[in-house]
This record gives sequence, C-alpha cells and structure tokens, in this order.
Amino acid sequence: MAVNVLNATKVYLCLLFNQTGSPCCLCGQSTLTTSGFCQGCLDDLPRLSGPLCRCALPIEHDTESADADDLAPLCARCLDRTPAYLGIQAPMLYCQPLSRLINGWKHHGRLHLQHPLQHLLVSQLSTLPEVDLVVPVPLHWRRQWQRGFNQTALLASALADKRRLPFADVLRRPSAHRHQQGSNASQRRAAMRGSFVSKARLNDLRILLIDDVVTTGSTVGAASQALLEAGASSVSVAALCRVLPPEIAGDDPDHC
Ligand SMILES: [Zn+2]
Ligand SMILES: [Zn+2]
Repeated sequence: MAVNVLNATKVYLCLLFNQTGSPCCLCGQSTLTTSGFCQGCLDDLPRLSGPLCRCALPIEHDTESADADDLAPLCARCLDRTPAYLGIQAPMLYCQPLSRLINGWKHHGRLHLQHPLQHLLVSQLSTLPEVDLVVPVPLHWRRQWQRGFNQTALLASALADKRRLPFADVLRRPSAHRHQQGSNASQRRAAMRGSFVSKARLNDLRILLIDDVVTTGSTVGAASQALLEAGASSVSVAALCRVLPPEIAGDDPDHC
C-alpha cells in the first residue's frame, strides 16, 4: 500500500488555482463559465424530481403519511424504520454521464473533475435547512491514504465556503467498510451499524452531513446516528446524487 502523493498534491493545487473558463468536462467545448460544464451538458444532467420522501426517493403523494412536523412524507421503507436524519437533499440522479464523472474522480485519478463536481453540488442545492456545522462522511484512513483525498470532505468544504458555514471533519470511521455494491438496504444497514464515531461533542448543534452518492441511505443513516449520539440536536443530509433502487428505476432509461 502506498500513499498517493501525486493525487494528494494535485488536489491541493486544484484548490489553490480556481479553474476559470475551462473546457466542458463532458463534451470538451470551451466555456466561459467557471462551472466546468457547458450550458447544454449542464442542462442535460439527470436530476431528481419530486414528490420525494425524506430519504430522497420518489414517492406517491400521500397525505396520510405526511408528518405532523411538516416534514416530507415517508416511503414504505422509511415508515417501517424512520431515518435518524431529518431529510436528504440530493439534486442529481446517479446516472450516466454523472456516474462516469464521479467514478473518474474517485477511482481513476481524473482530478480535474473535482472543481466541476464541487460546483455542481454548490449550485444545484437550492434551499438548505438552518444548520450550525457542515460535516463530511469520512473515509476509513486506509482508503483515504490510498486515494490521497476524501471526495466527500472536498464537496463539503466547498459548500461550507460558499454558504459561509463552519466546517469540521468530526466523524471517524474506525473500521474499513466492506465493499457494498450489490448489498440490499438491510444488509448495508447491518454492515454499517456502529461504523462511525464522533471525535467531538456536538452539544445541540444542527448538523449538515455531506455525502457524494447516497445509495440506500444506510451510510448517512449510520453517520447521522453517530452525530446524534455525540449530542447533535438534528442532522440533515445533502448529497450530490441519489441512486434509485431497481424497483423504482426499472428499465426506464430516464430513471437509470
Ligand atoms: Zn458540454
Ligand atoms: Zn423513504
């Protein structure tokens, strides 16, 4: 195992030198914007649209499941097990071409994608709840050492900067999580139980927890639980995108 010094160095250089007027990261067309996308590619990215459950999955509008606290209604899965977080905001769908960009950034060293993906999160989140602190979902130290960066911390710090909110990397992941692709929600939930601890007390703080991709919600659920156990008064979640489960996505290409 070797630390990816090159990746880590490039990440800090990306932070130092804001890219302006860079080519579109999808079609290569030159653009005068700072988003890293041309307007056409930005407009075509797959978005999540409502009505949505608190877990950010599409839901049939059902007033019977609406909460008295004026929170979003719950899907059948969340009615069965109420999430620890107040709600997830995830403006984009985890579909091509966005999934290719995220994987290129995280797994294939395409570090020039950092800025467009940060910009996407910051620009596409419309209204955020009132919060006191922005916290990223952490990677296990070994995975961060290998990758050279935690993509979620980079997304979270960009959002905190833009919204002028305090940022703190307070969660720790004591054990490396097993690769979860292919696991269902209950398997993931069982695997995630107790997998986060907070390094600090968070007395009565309202937390905005940031993840890059929400798959089943079990990771942000377990992280939210750890934040509440450390004294946070509430946890809201924001993520770049949401994976739709097969029963919702089906074979519809518009739903990935
Ligand atoms: Zn483009
Ligand atoms: Zn739900």
